[in-house]
Amino acid sequence: MANSLFLFRKLSTRKKLSGCALAAYTVLASTGSCEAWKPTSELFSRGTQSKLNMSTDSAVSTFTVAQFSCLGDNYGYLIHDPETGQTAAIDTPCDKTYKEELEKRGWKLTHILNTHHHDDHTGGNKALKEEGVKIIGPVDEKSKIPGIDEPVGGGDSFEFGNLKVNVMDAGGHTKGHIAYYFPDQSSVFVGDCLFSLGCGKMFEGTPTQFWASLERLRALPDDTVVYCAHEYTASNAKFAMSVEPGNSDLVNRVAIVKAKRERNEPTVPTLLGEEKKANPFLRVDCSDEIRQNIGVSSGDTSADAFAKLRKAKDNF
Ligand SMILES: [Zn+2]
Repeated sequence: MANSLFLFRKLSTRKKLSGCALAAYTVLASTGSCEAWKPTSELFSRGTQSKLNMSTDSAVSTFTVAQFSCLGDNYGYLIHDPETGQTAAIDTPCDKTYKEELEKRGWKLTHILNTHHHDDHTGGNKALKEEGVKIIGPVDEKSKIPGIDEPVGGGDSFEFGNLKVNVMDAGGHTKGHIAYYFPDQSSVFVGDCLFSLGCGKMFEGTPTQFWASLERLRALPDDTVVYCAHEYTASNAKFAMSVEPGNSDLVNRVAIVKAKRERNEPTVPTLLGEEKKANPFLRVDCSDEIRQNIGVSSGDTSADAFAKLRKAKDNF
């Protein structure tokens, strides 16, 4: 896969949207009902281009994301704040690729932001932790995060360079999994919680916990750019089509995904608004077609329905 570089501009005209993003995060975090979101299709064209320019207004600050393949199907990410020179790794599948990418760009690593404890997300921590590198990771997995300096949990916020970062509880794949949401850049790094057209396996958490995490993510604004940790979209698409073949938005997405993979292009990042329209794991509480196909009964809660969908995917 060709390396990709994403550039965002934080603008005066986007301040209103930033406020909405924050409001959505705080107010809708525990609901995320079907009515809370209305996908906007035109945004998707910006979501997977090699360069994202959110507006043409003059820039106040910038946020650059470098994306590259690691360990086969993992994606590595480096976030760079050019105003302060700070650079963060989102997870560390391997140290070698990260070092090469840092050197290529002339960036100096200052932070590592771990989403969860799995080796393909923390394996490079120790080798990358030189003098001045701060490791931030999930408080509920702090004993399993190599070199952790600052444990954080859902609801916490911190500054990275000039950027605000909100920590979201994204437990379910692992119990303590967290996501990093950049409200002013409309971007969220979700690790293995949410994938394009899918979600992570439920290794440690419960359906109730995992479903609550997906609802929290779903409550973010539609134009949120979702950075997932793996390129699983093509196989996720096959399962999605098996449970909701009548969804024309899904059919269209599958065609786009197929074409991209044939050109060896990444399907990540994705736009949350598009996921809301096509990802069965964000639709299991409101798509009659999915519910019928996986045998959801009238007495089932949304978490029960999610559990049935997750099980169906595991057995697919
Ligand atoms: Zn994982």
